[in-house]
Amino acid sequence: MNHFDLVICGAGPVGCTIAERAANQQGWKVLIIEKRNHIAGNCYDCYHKSGVMIHRYGPHYFRTNNKEIFEYLSKFTDWIPGDYFVKSYSRGELFNFPINLETLEKFYNLKLSVKEAKELIENVREKIEFPQNSEEYVLSKVGRELYEAFYLGYTLKQWERHPKDLDASVCGRIPVRFNKDSRYSDYKYQVTPSQGFTAMFQKMIEHPNISVMLQTDYKQIKPFVKPRIATVYTGPIDEYFDYKLGKLPWRSLDFEFKEYYQEYKQPCVQINYPNDFDYTRTVEIKHVTKQKCWNTVISYEYSKSSGDPYYPVPAPENAALYKKYEELAMLEQSINRVFFVGRLAAYRYYNTDQVIEAALKTFNQIQNLNPQN
Ligand SMILES: Cc1cc2nc3c(=O)[nH]c(=O)nc-3n(C[C@H](O)[C@H](O)[C@H](O)COP(=O)(O)OP(=O)(O)OC[C@H]3O[C@@H](n4cnc5c(N)ncnc54)[C@H](O)[C@@H]3O)c2cc1C
Repeated sequence: MNHFDLVICGAGPVGCTIAERAANQQGWKVLIIEKRNHIAGNCYDCYHKSGVMIHRYGPHYFRTNNKEIFEYLSKFTDWIPGDYFVKSYSRGELFNFPINLETLEKFYNLKLSVKEAKELIENVREKIEFPQNSEEYVLSKVGRELYEAFYLGYTLKQWERHPKDLDASVCGRIPVRFNKDSRYSDYKYQVTPSQGFTAMFQKMIEHPNISVMLQTDYKQIKPFVKPRIATVYTGPIDEYFDYKLGKLPWRSLDFEFKEYYQEYKQPCVQINYPNDFDYTRTVEIKHVTKQKCWNTVISYEYSKSSGDPYYPVPAPENAALYKKYEELAMLEQSINRVFFVGRLAAYRYYNTDQVIEAALKTFNQIQNLNPQN
């Protein structure tokens, strides 16, 4: 156990990226410890018993503006275009989402030029100069009627919190467009690994210097491993410190996968249900993976407050608690060379490209360290 240069807790995107760099660039021996029975973290995709590929922990739409990250990952995968289209079900109809010109035309039952659409929104939006929370943010962007149709119910279901009690950034991530662009996001690169995320991360860590222990909790073997260079911890930061300052809250999800005997069940990869049903969204990832098969699988997502940690809850009191843990983490880094990185360790809503960028930065820090005695 003690002949490893680097020990990494978690075989998610961060763990795989740092392991790959350490083995290929430094020739280090790396041990990755992962408590699940697979690699790739929440990006994990696999085949459902029906033979249809699914995203096991929710749909992952890879997108980035960062050319370096795109080129780095391109060493491990080919890509197919990321056709990320989302609709929202409201008032018994499907609307393009995020809101765009077509959404506005359908919602208000009007034919609108870009100029008219902008004037309409200017009239209905509430004039809140400095929005302090998600409700104020959306009201200031699109006004109450659209807020109640598309945002309020979804936010309540997803977070079990009123948008008033969530940072403006939660709903601030969703753009509003005055053209007919109906893509889910605006990023320069919107692509999906042609063989899936798991295959891409598997390729990254295929190296004789990299060992992976699955179904192993880092906590259990921590006393027995002492890496020569450093430890990278990508699990929840509060768990590392035995929750001694209190528990950071997370939102979790239940996924129900149902097979349908038809080629496609819905018109696009994702449909949001802000106001009807218990689930928040339905996902037919086949629209993105482009798998050719006669049947399909829909994933129904139900939001909940306990279970695997998926979304940090962005509220001021949680940010304050995280700050205290961060101070402990800094100490742990300087004393014991434990580096905290990734979505669970940073308690941040990071997309995959962002965590890979953070992982590469951390690796740059670690690679300058000398072996410890
Ligand atoms: C529902 C959902 C949808 C998402 N959609 C997108 C999207 O569309 N596009 C996008 O770019 N990103 C998306 N993301 C974000 C993406 O999943 C993350 O950015 C990325 O997976 C973070 O990588 P990570 O390595 O930091 O953490 P993770 O992927 O969470 O991996 C951490 C790993 O550490 C393991 N671990 C934790 N504690 C221990 C322990 N004590 N011992 C051993 N192992 C441990 C966990 O089991 C896990 O496998 C989504 C996330 C979720 C939850």
